[in-house]
Amino acid sequence: MFGLKQSPWVIHYDASSCNGCDIETLACLTPGFDVERLGVLNTGDPKHADIFLVTGAANEQSHAVIRNIYDQMPEPKVVVAIGACACTGGIFRECYNISGGVDTVIPVDVFVPGCAARPEAIIDGVVQALAALMDRRKAMKALGKNVDQVLYSRAESADAARILSLQKTAHQQEGTIYGEEHVPGLVQTLPALEVELTQRVFIKATVNGRLVGVARGYAQDRTGFISDVIVHPYFHRCGVGRRLLEELEKALPDMNRFEASIGDKCVESAAWLQRQGYELYKTDSWRPAIARVYFQKERK
Ligand code: SF4
Repeated sequence: MFGLKQSPWVIHYDASSCNGCDIETLACLTPGFDVERLGVLNTGDPKHADIFLVTGAANEQSHAVIRNIYDQMPEPKVVVAIGACACTGGIFRECYNISGGVDTVIPVDVFVPGCAARPEAIIDGVVQALAALMDRRKAMKALGKNVDQVLYSRAESADAARILSLQKTAHQQEGTIYGEEHVPGLVQTLPALEVELTQRVFIKATVNGRLVGVARGYAQDRTGFISDVIVHPYFHRCGVGRRLLEELEKALPDMNRFEASIGDKCVESAAWLQRQGYELYKTDSWRPAIARVYFQKERK
């Protein structure tokens, strides 16, 4: 938590600004006001961002992009709407293609007024966002202690965005080992996941309506293939992954055996699969320089 508070990473998106608020935001990030000296880092990758800074009103073209960036950010995350346009639509709110402020697309935590918003106000908004981020993180950690209240059920297409956000968080370590471009869970898009939800069995784990884990798999030739089991880091070592795997195996009832494959360097996942009764049975090359190891288990 100390690192997050001392060095939040922000991502900035211009939804349809006149550029006035963008220039002020960039002034904060560049040597003029230099928020980097306070530990705030600007990133171009939503998967690394804690705070989403949005300038400009939401219009038809920016809706999908705003939603896409937001969905890719790991939990916990906060959104700061910068300037009158991002807060309400501003002087453009009556335009035929404007839906209003950013909160017409995603939840907004901090509103920074002004036309254009002044750099001091933007920095103040980021400080308020940090407080909201800490509160959200504490709330999620508290949820991690409520393992008896975890509900397991089939995921639906409406869960796609939340699953995508969770998998971007859960596969970060793999991305560090292999490079993000080689980890399917990190490069998958929302439309691709929506299609996958119609083709495979997804079991979700929720606490108080929050998604904390997902297992997915499919049946083929009397084998249940376990494609992925992910759990939010705050819920590791609570038994959520084991229950998800059991529920997924139950949801594939007529299978004689189950099979799971992971990257050869994912030693923790390999040990976890072995604790669930899976045995290593082969290794092969998946992509140049990346080997995959396969585990199997007979149904008892
Ligand atoms: S609030 Fe003003 S300066 Fe900022 S994007 Fe809107 S019109 Fe431009």
